Amino acid sequence: MKFLDEYRNYSAVRQMAQAIQRVAKRPWTLMEVCGGQTYTIVKTGLQDLLPRGITLVHGPGCPVCVTPLEMIDRAIATALRPEVILCSFGDMLRVPGSTQSLLDAKASGADVRIVYSPLDALQLARANPNREVVFFAVGFETTAPANAMAVWQAEREKIPNFSMLVSHVLVPPAMEAILGSLDCRVQAFLAAGHVCMVMGYEEYVPISRKYRVPIVVTGFEPLDLLEGVLMAVEQLEDGRAEVANQYARAVRRSGNLPAQERIAEVFEVTPRAWRGIGEIPSSGLRLREAYRRFDAETRFAMDIDRVEESRECIAGLVLRGLRKPFECPAFGTRCTPDTPLGAPMVSSEGACAAYFHFGRRKEDGHSIVSTATAGH
Ligand code: SF4
Repeated sequence: MKFLDEYRNYSAVRQMAQAIQRVAKRPWTLMEVCGGQTYTIVKTGLQDLLPRGITLVHGPGCPVCVTPLEMIDRAIATALRPEVILCSFGDMLRVPGSTQSLLDAKASGADVRIVYSPLDALQLARANPNREVVFFAVGFETTAPANAMAVWQAEREKIPNFSMLVSHVLVPPAMEAILGSLDCRVQAFLAAGHVCMVMGYEEYVPISRKYRVPIVVTGFEPLDLLEGVLMAVEQLEDGRAEVANQYARAVRRSGNLPAQERIAEVFEVTPRAWRGIGEIPSSGLRLREAYRRFDAETRFAMDIDRVEESRECIAGLVLRGLRKPFECPAFGTRCTPDTPLGAPMVSSEGACAAYFHFGRRKEDGHSIVSTATAGH
């Protein structure tokens, strides 16, 4: 497949890994931001191709993983109202709240449905005028345009029974929170290519300068990721800290301006709590005043307290790159994809689930690029 197979080509991947071997003289720790990138790295064993001193740690870029516990509880409380049809993406249904998941609520009679787009939820609202249809809107800048579009469309059509439970998060403030923490070990970032497709990468320039870290906008295939690593390591070895674009086939510096305009029209920036990390200033989106009547939190007043995470789950450390999933005592025993204690064990983009599925129980793992994805 054009633009896919060539980025999984085994000999090209090998050559890129050898280029990193030649350039890397000192140990460096790099964080890939996005859960999709984590998935590729773990599935294909890219870490095993890197020099021993180059460590990849996994960032907070899994939307299911960072949606706070109390927001899951709020979604469940909303879903349990008899007039409500609550819609969300499939992974969100399995994430444990403080006492149950949306899937448990569905099993006990709540009308919870999986949709593939917020526009599907809008269609449900049109088709069910006597019910309240609530879309649970989670995710990063990548999903924000479609969610903004759905609210904008609902406003245009004056659809009264559609609302959104918004838990949107923004990547740059999370990167700053990680870089600003005393225990930060990240020396360079591989930024998420699809987020930058929407938002561009201008906003990373001040972060790179302030914290003296290279930030490389990177794609999702094995060759993309290794080239991103190479571009970051070259900067680190040269003592440079710049924003660079590995994913130039998809990302422009200014991003997708019409999508940004739609987001800005419907949403405004707000503080947001991240599961396992805590509140980060200016790191979320909420509906603007002009669209607030579509806000499910306003429509269905809910008194949900902030809830403590399981003491056993070290997801906050995993999401900040301070621990690997296999360093969690519950990994693979009390916490598995069938019995998740924390959100990173639920989504395919969650680091814990990826480590579990691909059998990575320690750092010096077993696999290199698998023949299934090597494209040879
Ligand atoms: S393995 Fe489970 S309990 Fe441990 S950090 Fe991951 S999600 Fe949390």
